[in-house]
Amino acid sequence: MSVITELDQVADELRDAGRLLLTTHENPDGDALGSLLGMYLVLSQLGKDAAMFLGAAEFPLPYEYRYLPLDGVMNEPPDDLEERLVVFLDCGNIDRMPVDFLRDDRIRIVNIDHHHDNTRFGEVNLVDPSASCTAELVWRLAHELGAEITRPMAEALYVGLVTDTGRFMYRNTGAEAHLMAADLIEAGASPNEVNRQVFESLPFRRLELLARALARVYRLDGGAITATHLTREDFVETGSDEHDSEGIVDHLRSAEGTVVAVLVRELLAEDRAGLRKVSLRSVDGRVDVSRIARGLGGGGHFQAAGFTTGLPLPELLERVRVEVGEQL
Ligand code: 5GP
Ligand code: MN
Repeated sequence: MSVITELDQVADELRDAGRLLLTTHENPDGDALGSLLGMYLVLSQLGKDAAMFLGAAEFPLPYEYRYLPLDGVMNEPPDDLEERLVVFLDCGNIDRMPVDFLRDDRIRIVNIDHHHDNTRFGEVNLVDPSASCTAELVWRLAHELGAEITRPMAEALYVGLVTDTGRFMYRNTGAEAHLMAADLIEAGASPNEVNRQVFESLPFRRLELLARALARVYRLDGGAITATHLTREDFVETGSDEHDSEGIVDHLRSAEGTVVAVLVRELLAEDRAGLRKVSLRSVDGRVDVSRIARGLGGGGHFQAAGFTTGLPLPELLERVRVEVGEQL
């Protein structure tokens, strides 16, 4: 007896659909955008009428992803929305999509993701936490659907792969991630070119913001927690936007003895004044940071998670300290 997998089910849904709308989570990162574009190119190659959607609030996109050919992305719902199959990519729960029109019961949703805490909000779900990135699931689907991996597809999917694996350094980096990389390179993706675009073409203000974060770094509990924070002034004085702190938390991982790295930053939008966004990274896998984030209204992966809170800095650090302590 053959077993029908989630991959087969989702492949069937995509095969049967004529018109689709693809979208991803708010504040899209490299995996969100790479998966979105990769899936769009696959479906277009198969002759589908596929459209990409991102809310207007997501623009401008993070600086390092602006080179991606995403100019066809819609910011308004299409008129024929109800006739389109809606495909969510890299989105752990539907609340991470701040657009109400997609929460309509008449819409059929396919949910493709690798977050272990995915709420399986789709009518059909392909949720595989063993996948290094959502782009890996798109890559598997592309092969399942018989698509030819073109260079633009490979370049988009490689962005998801290289960002979500921390440049092939996180624990989600297995043989499959490298096999996928090899396949994408054979299809024309250049690791060096993607690296130059995504990691080495950043505005100088990011270095200034990083400098401020590192100048203020501190350790708690004998070094188990390495943390720092950025204020509104840090952003304003360096001319930075919210995305410019991307990657800073990863620098905190490097200090010996660090179990959890924490970056706290004050949010900039007027209507979010007083709120702080917290990024958590688990260095050696002893602590499940997604559990801590979920307890504070956020979520994420075992080793990379985040949440937004109204708690003042000392209280929130204390909360994180206690929870890390409980898990150790
Ligand atoms: P970052 O710290 O880079 O913003 O986020 C790391 C990971 O945590 C993301 O890939 C995402 O999975 C998750 N994450 C961050 N913030 C939130 C949040 O507010 N809610 C949920 N559900 N997940 C989040
Ligand atoms: Mn992802």
